[in-house]
Amino acid sequence: NIRRLVLGNWKMHGELAANAQLLSAIRSGWNQSSNAAACDVGVCVPFPYLSQAESALHGSDIAWGAQDISRFDKGAYTGEVSGTMLADFGCRYVLVGHSERRSMHAESSDVVADKAKAALAAGLTPVVCIGESLEERESGRFLDVIHAQLAPVLALGSEAVSRMVLAYEPVWAIGTGKTASPEQAQEVHAAIRAALVAVKCPGVRILYGGSVKAANAATLFAQADIDGGLIGGAALVADEFLRIAEAG
Ligand code: 13P
Repeated sequence: NIRRLVLGNWKMHGELAANAQLLSAIRSGWNQSSNAAACDVGVCVPFPYLSQAESALHGSDIAWGAQDISRFDKGAYTGEVSGTMLADFGCRYVLVGHSERRSMHAESSDVVADKAKAALAAGLTPVVCIGESLEERESGRFLDVIHAQLAPVLALGSEAVSRMVLAYEPVWAIGTGKTASPEQAQEVHAAIRAALVAVKCPGVRILYGGSVKAANAATLFAQADIDGGLIGGAALVADEFLRIAEAG
C-alpha cells in the first residue's frame, strides 16, 4: 500500500493576513484528523511566503514547499531561486514542470528533468507534473504525450526516480471545473505506473490534479493507481482542502 499525499498548489494567490488564517486553520484541522496516520499533506506556496509557511507549520504534520526551482545551484540567474535556498526555508516539496510553467515559461521536458535533478540534489522531493492538452486528448495521442514528458525524467535513473512524486494533471481539467472522470484518470495513471514498474520504481506516488474538490476526491482516490491529489483552487479554502485530505 502506497502512502497517500494531498498537496495544495496555491499558485499566485495569497497575502500575509489571509495566509496566516489559512495556514492556522489547516494546521489545527489536520491536527485533529484521524487520517494523518494514512496521508501526508503539504502546501506549495509562492516564494515570498515560504518563511511564513515555515513559522506557521513547523512542528506540525503539514509540510510546505515551492512551486518552481532553478535548475542551477547558484550564479548569475536573476530572478531564479535555487534548491539550496528552498531547503534553507525547510521546504520538503517543490513542483516542477507544472503545465502553467511549461506553457507560459517554455519549460521543455528536458528542463523539467534538470529541475527534478536539482531538487533531489538539494534534498527536496520534486513533484514532477505531466499532462496533455485538450487537443492532445481529443486526438487520442495523450498517452504518447505522457510518455514523451516522462522520458527525460525516467532517464535520470531508478535511484533518482524512487525519490520523486509524479502528478498527472490534464491541462483541460485545470481550473476549468472539468475533472477527468475517475476512469479517464486511472487509464493514464496505470500507464504511468507501468512506466515506473519498468524502471523498478513501482512505489512512486502518482497524484491526480485538475479540479479536485471535496465532492469528487474520494472517488478519484479510490482508483487503483491514484495515490493522492495536487489541489489548486480548492487548496485556498481551509475546509475544502481539509475534506480532500480526509479522503486521502
Ligand atoms: P485546480 O485544482 O484549480 O484545477 O488546479 C489544479 C492544479 O493545477 C494544481 O497544480
